Amino acid sequence: MENLQIVSALEEPEKAAALAASVFTKAPGDIPDIEPPPDGNVTLPGGFLDLKGELHTEATVRELTGADEEALQKPEVMKNFGRFTQVLLQRGVTRVGTYDNPGKDVLGNLLIGDRDMLMLAIRRVTYGDTLEMKVNCPACGEELNVEHDLAKDVPIKKMDDPRERMFTMELRDGRKVTCSLAVGSDQEAILSIGQNKSLAEITSMLLARCVKWEDGRSLGLDGVRNMGALDRRNLAEEITGRQPGPQYSTIDLDCAACGKDFPMVVDVQDLFR
Ligand SMILES: [Zn+2]
Repeated sequence: MENLQIVSALEEPEKAAALAASVFTKAPGDIPDIEPPPDGNVTLPGGFLDLKGELHTEATVRELTGADEEALQKPEVMKNFGRFTQVLLQRGVTRVGTYDNPGKDVLGNLLIGDRDMLMLAIRRVTYGDTLEMKVNCPACGEELNVEHDLAKDVPIKKMDDPRERMFTMELRDGRKVTCSLAVGSDQEAILSIGQNKSLAEITSMLLARCVKWEDGRSLGLDGVRNMGALDRRNLAEEITGRQPGPQYSTIDLDCAACGKDFPMVVDVQDLFR
C-alpha cells in the first residue's frame, strides 16, 4: 500500500475516473463547516529542479473559485483524472520557487508526490483541514463516519536527497536499468490512456516512460512487454514506492463497533469530494 496515491489510480483507473467525476457534486448541505483558511504556502518534499540545476521547494497555492469549479466540472475534464489534475494544478498553484503562475513546463516536471502535496494544500486552503468520510469496517461491516485533520493526520514522506531522481536496478538476468521517478507528464499520459486498460498495460506504460537501459537506450513498449513479470513488478513498486509526499495509507482507524483497527484508504480524489 506504499504510495497509495499513484498505485490506486494506476490499479483502479475506473474507480479513479468515477471519483473524479463525483468531485464537487456533493449537496451544499453536506459541506462541512470551514475553518479559517491556512495560508497557501507549502514546502514541497521533493521540489522543482530547473534546467540550471536550482531546486525550488517553496510553493504557493490559492483557494479555488466558482470559475475554477466550472473548469473542473467540464465533462472532458471530470472523466479523465490526468486532465483533472492538470487543470486543478494550473489553476490552484500560483508559484513554485521563483516561477510565478507555473505552466506545464514546471508542473509537468514535478514529482507526483510534490503534485499530491500541492493538491492537499489546495484542498486545505479551499475547503479547510477537516476531511469527513464514510467507510465500512472490513472486519464487521459497520459504517463508520471518519473525520481527519489534514493538517495533522497525514504523514508527509520526505526524500533523503531531493536531487536524486534516478536509481539503478539489476534485472534477474543481471542486466542493469536506470529508473527515474515519475513526474506530472508521466502521470497525465498514463491516466489518459483510457479507463479500460488493465494493470499490466498501465504498468507497461509507466515502465516505458521511466526505465532505460544503463547505457541510456530506451526499452520502448516492446522492451518492457518482453521483460519478465517479476522484474516488471519489482521495478514498478520501486518507482512508485520512492515517491515522497502525503502518505494517506499509513493512517490507522479503530472500529467503534468491533474494536479492530485497519488502515484507512484515502485517494487523492477523496479530498475534493
Ligand atoms: Zn468493525
